[in-house]
Amino acid sequence: MLLGRLLILVALCLLPVLARAEPSELRIGILAFRGAERAEAEWEPTLRHLGANLPEYALRAVPLDLDGLAGAVRDETVDFVITNPGHYVELEAAEGIIRIASLAASAETVTARNVASAVVVRASRTDLRRLADLRGTRLAAVAPEAFGGFRVAWREMAEIGIDPFDDTSGVDFLGFPIERVVEAVASGAADAGIVRACLLEQMAAEGKLRAEDFRVLDGRIPPGGGCLTSTRSYPDWPFAKLAHTPDALAKRVAVALLTMPVRDGHAWTVPVDYQPVHELFRALKIGPYEYLRHRSLGQMARDYWPFLAFAALAALWWLIHVARVEVLVRRRTEELKAAHEEARRRRDEMEHGARLALLGEMASSLAHEINQPLAAIANYANGCQRRLTAHTDPEGVAEGIGQIATQAERAAGIVRRMRAFVRKRVPEPHILDLNDPVREALGLFQAIAARRGVTVSAFLADGLGMVRADRVQMEQVVLNLLQNAADAMAGRDDRRITVSTWGDAERVRLSVADSGPGLSAEALAHLFEPFFTTKPEGLGLGLSLSRGFVEAHGGRLWAESGPDGACFHFTLPRLREDAS
Ligand code: ADP
Repeated sequence: MLLGRLLILVALCLLPVLARAEPSELRIGILAFRGAERAEAEWEPTLRHLGANLPEYALRAVPLDLDGLAGAVRDETVDFVITNPGHYVELEAAEGIIRIASLAASAETVTARNVASAVVVRASRTDLRRLADLRGTRLAAVAPEAFGGFRVAWREMAEIGIDPFDDTSGVDFLGFPIERVVEAVASGAADAGIVRACLLEQMAAEGKLRAEDFRVLDGRIPPGGGCLTSTRSYPDWPFAKLAHTPDALAKRVAVALLTMPVRDGHAWTVPVDYQPVHELFRALKIGPYEYLRHRSLGQMARDYWPFLAFAALAALWWLIHVARVEVLVRRRTEELKAAHEEARRRRDEMEHGARLALLGEMASSLAHEINQPLAAIANYANGCQRRLTAHTDPEGVAEGIGQIATQAERAAGIVRRMRAFVRKRVPEPHILDLNDPVREALGLFQAIAARRGVTVSAFLADGLGMVRADRVQMEQVVLNLLQNAADAMAGRDDRRITVSTWGDAERVRLSVADSGPGLSAEALAHLFEPFFTTKPEGLGLGLSLSRGFVEAHGGRLWAESGPDGACFHFTLPRLREDAS
């Protein structure tokens, strides 16, 4: 029991000793754009002063570049940050760091130090006097994200409508040391250089250049005094704490900073307002204000509502138009289909009508023709009856019945041909010998020829070759030519029609020649036009329909006229042997 108490006592006494042996580390992230060594050297007085005031902490400077420092703040691997005003504003917005002091102009005043830029040109460039003269020139600067070394001047240029990236011949970013920018201007590699204010004066004081060899565009001395600048001024670098850094510790660091004497040009004052830096970022739409470049839909809608409304109306009009056109097209298609159907029906009617008209005269002749077998049948039937009653001559009866059958077949053939010709039908091309429909037509025409005293001679060539054609249409064509020939010869003494067919390797041809008066010039010109007729009862459709039929089969129909009468010809393509 006693031993236990003793051990606890010893442990309690040793604790502060152990704690002192390992002081907590205080890490200060520093923006080191000129390399770690220079940064550490530059900020060494501040760190030494803080170390002296916070003896229980081991202070460590952590020099980092822009991205490194942002990462360290994000990962909370540093407790405080010293960075440029632009970067501070970005980290303040993104990570919530809070400034606790700003660089002061002097230890005695509480005035913050200022950052501004000078845009430097060679004094000999008399054409370059103002920032507005920078349009089209070649620029040199430190880096795109450098604050005094680029962005401060960028804002001034943007305000007078010059985009350094688009409206100049380009910007050369030369990096640190910043003196390189002045050297580029001096050598003529660049027309103008963006540097932080006071650099020229500093270099002149160090004997690195002659101040009169250069000019600062729009150069002026700020109201509080200082160096020649081309831009407005912004607050200088802040010292900031991270969100996780304890307030008590931050307070001690702040107190230490504010009481730090001027060492190597650094002194700290109370944190100043970084609003001007925010304004710069907002004006350039960069850093925390990058989003301003990407306007929200709502914003665009507000800004462009008249255009959007117009576009919406146009789109609506277009949609209605398209829908209307579609409906119209559909309706018109229906109408066309109906019209086409109607036209087809009319054409069928017309063809049928023309066939009926052709048959008109034939009908009475055919009736007469049918009468002949009917009379013969009646005769044979009477004869047979007589012989049967008398019970004599059974052979005679048998022959009579045979004759009756033959005559009945003849009559049926006539009726069949007529019916086949006048039936309403859809054309059906078949492979056929043209002589077949020609013979059929001659058969139908026979009765008319007989009645009108017309002599028909047919010379139908053997082995004509096959054609692809609709039999009834071909019949109709031939019959029409025969009928026209007979009409033309009416009232003449000499009435002869010669029908001939022949063929060569390419085509099959038919000719119908008559001994009529021939064709007048007017008839020759208009013969094949629908409704051209010279006959009182004529329809004027026969030849136009015939030409249509022949051409539909890939052939040709034409007329010739001479002193001996008219001659009509048509050809059809002959099928090749292997096709038939
Ligand atoms: P339609 O016979 O109804 O008049 P077509 O079209 O068959 O109609 O003939 C048109 C016209 O062509 C006839 O009216 C006639 O004047 C003329 N024609 C046709 N064939 C002959 C022909 N062989 N000789 C003289 N004229 C003819």
